[in-house]
Amino acid sequence: MIKHFTIPVFIPELACPFQCAFCNQRKISGHIAVPSGDEILNIIKSHLKTFPSGNKHVEIGFFGGSFTGMPLKEQEYFLSLAKPFKDSGEIQGIRLSTRPDYINNDVLELLKKYGVTSIELGAQSFDNEVLKKSYRGHTTAQTEVASEMILKNGFKLGLQMMIGLPGDTLEKALFTARKIADSGASCTRIYPTVVIKDTAMHQWYKKGSYKPLSLEEAVTWSKHLLLFFEKTPVKVIRTGLHPSEGLVTGDELIAGPFHPSFKELVMTEIWYDLLNKIPGNKEKELTVSVPEKELNFAVGYRAKNKKMLLKKFKNVKFKPSGNIKHRAQFTFEIY
Ligand code: SF4
Repeated sequence: MIKHFTIPVFIPELACPFQCAFCNQRKISGHIAVPSGDEILNIIKSHLKTFPSGNKHVEIGFFGGSFTGMPLKEQEYFLSLAKPFKDSGEIQGIRLSTRPDYINNDVLELLKKYGVTSIELGAQSFDNEVLKKSYRGHTTAQTEVASEMILKNGFKLGLQMMIGLPGDTLEKALFTARKIADSGASCTRIYPTVVIKDTAMHQWYKKGSYKPLSLEEAVTWSKHLLLFFEKTPVKVIRTGLHPSEGLVTGDELIAGPFHPSFKELVMTEIWYDLLNKIPGNKEKELTVSVPEKELNFAVGYRAKNKKMLLKKFKNVKFKPSGNIKHRAQFTFEIY
């Protein structure tokens, strides 16, 4: 099996002209220096040393801001640092994230020339009212046009989404997910909206005009989204904000559904729904066989699902099985 690795290179956006209601990137950027060329090369080389030999797919990922919002010369500079690693075969791809309205033919030509393979757009929502209320500064039509251009030019497309933005509903989030799949994206990231200090949303939160999703709501929405994406070719490469993404540490996080094990909570709920259907018998024992890679999710965060089953059975055992590839094929034995 091919192992995938991404070498993250964080390029903070220094002069983002937008003021998305949820973002304080400008303030944060003021404290984070743009890495020098030597620093970037060191990041790449030190990561390369840590990867095991054998069958693997390594990508350099430029994250942190809207890469293609930088002047072309700057983009070219950063890409010229990454390209030699692709030419030598040490890495297989270069990916970057940007805004839908920062895609045009000149940009795509440059990215092609330097071997970029995947472009992720911060779509956030496919509902114009949600985008407008969040001061996002672009429309869904712009996301659609940019997505088409990216695919036509031979890049892989990623479309990131946020849930719980102002005006968002579960129905709108599911609509966004459908549009992401219909747009031909090969991957997505699901970010629950949190309230960050000194943002427009922070003011609205203080006034009571914006209320973030509760953790429980965010987990339930994400559960529906994950189950939807599983039926499509779109791979969900992130569910929930990662502590290393900044913004959620220290006193920056004011409110909202942040949890360091967010994905585990979502997967726990998916398994809870499946396991809760097993008819209980307090006189008997239960053994559940599940795919190896989902064992922890099946047992549940803090053993939630095991505890639920222990209320219905005398004893409960979970068995990882190499033969069971998909969650839906789990088996159980009552004896
Ligand atoms: S989310 Fe991106 S585009 Fe919006 S303000 Fe922050 S850096 Fe700018």
